[in-house]
Amino acid sequence: MASYFDEHDREPLNPEREARNNMLLELARRVRGAWSWTPGGRSLFTRMDFQDLGLVDWEHHLPPPAAKAVVESLPRTVISSSKADLKCPVCLLEFEEEETVIEMPCHHLFHSNCILPWLSKTNSCPLCRHELPTDDDSYEEHKKDKARRQQQQHRLENLHGAMYT
Ligand SMILES: [Zn+2]
Ligand SMILES: [Zn+2]
Repeated sequence: MASYFDEHDREPLNPEREARNNMLLELARRVRGAWSWTPGGRSLFTRMDFQDLGLVDWEHHLPPPAAKAVVESLPRTVISSSKADLKCPVCLLEFEEEETVIEMPCHHLFHSNCILPWLSKTNSCPLCRHELPTDDDSYEEHKKDKARRQQQQHRLENLHGAMYT
């Protein structure tokens, strides 16, 4: 099953998917901005931000926040000289050598100030949409359901292929 989904992740990005990824990054920047300008990091991220982007529905389509325990256990990585020319996808600044950054399971690196506000809103990497587990039981159930349906669909397609080709 894992390989089936892995294959999907490796599909070349089509333009629509790429635009969507960029939208996620754009949202992540706004979440970060709203977060860092507010005393105590209280997020003022509102519906208005989505409306600006013509994304009114996105507020309802974003999955729930990443599970707190998972976020806390994300590896912190120290930037080595070989990685010093990499940029944080959210703020687009190059990482400094010796800087400590957060590494997502998809191996994308972010400043903690850039990724933590985002993960408190939704559970996916804003660059590649890799999802982290959430604390939301109904969402997790929905995700399992979806995976089961996709797997079944895949099996039916294979069966169909075997019978009619
Ligand atoms: Zn950053
Ligand atoms: Zn990623």
